[in-house]
Amino acid sequence: MDANITTFRQLYYVCKSQNKKIYEAAIDYEVSLGEYSEEQIRMQAEKSLSAMKDAIKTGMNSVEKSPSGMSGDDCDKLQKSFARNSSLYSKTVQKIMTYALATSEQNLRMGTIAACPTAGSCGIVPAVLIAFAQDNNISENEQVNALITAGEVGKLVANKMALAGAVGGCQAECGVASAMASAALTQMRGGDIKQILNSVALALKNILGLTCDPVCGLVEIPCVKRNPFLAVHAVTASELAMAGIISKIPLDEVVDAMEQTGKLMSPLLKESSQGGLAKTKTAIILEKNILK
Ligand code: SF4
Repeated sequence: MDANITTFRQLYYVCKSQNKKIYEAAIDYEVSLGEYSEEQIRMQAEKSLSAMKDAIKTGMNSVEKSPSGMSGDDCDKLQKSFARNSSLYSKTVQKIMTYALATSEQNLRMGTIAACPTAGSCGIVPAVLIAFAQDNNISENEQVNALITAGEVGKLVANKMALAGAVGGCQAECGVASAMASAALTQMRGGDIKQILNSVALALKNILGLTCDPVCGLVEIPCVKRNPFLAVHAVTASELAMAGIISKIPLDEVVDAMEQTGKLMSPLLKESSQGGLAKTKTAIILEKNILK
């Protein structure tokens, strides 16, 4: 049986010593558990990828508001703005932002999404992976490989801390999604394992302490707009890593710091809607209007 990989350091050494990519090491380990074959694992990833693409497509063409009425038309606004105005961002980054909003708004409409790693952060990985793949002729097979790499990153962080706003704040949801997305992106861009893991470390260390303070207790404000922000954050992490910029703090230590930060954060800022944005004057008015 292949050794269980529980840290990023172990992952790095397995990949280096056995000359494997991250997704290969992840698949080998899962297969060694005896429950699934490689074919089944890849089929599951394909299914998730397909659900992600469907959510983007549907979300791009909808202006239906969420049941609360607080959101649902931002993706449409952004698409129209990109069509009308010049942007500082490339076409691919514009697409990334749009796809992140499309998926996130689909989640609010109770549409089908792939939680990646959670529903609140569901727009980030699909947006980065699929927009880049479309604009760079990345094969379906390579997209599946990138998604499995992203999954391995999420799994290794989850070995340390629960990926839930109630436990670690939004750093554990949108933050981890951004790190997963940067790994997928860096891999598709041809980055080596060091660059991939550095992109993960850079993404994570620059969102430490991100609060979870959903208005009205709904995964809506600030969650929806946080998705395009953290999708672009993943691009920044990948750009730095591809330039050879490294995280001076090793990735496993960044994850330790993230876990500790989550523990130090007040429960008022961890999905309880008792602090931060959730307790602003406007949030209280919105809550009264929605619940009346
Ligand atoms: S703010 Fe909280 S509920 Fe919203 S996406 Fe982040 S962790 Fe999830």
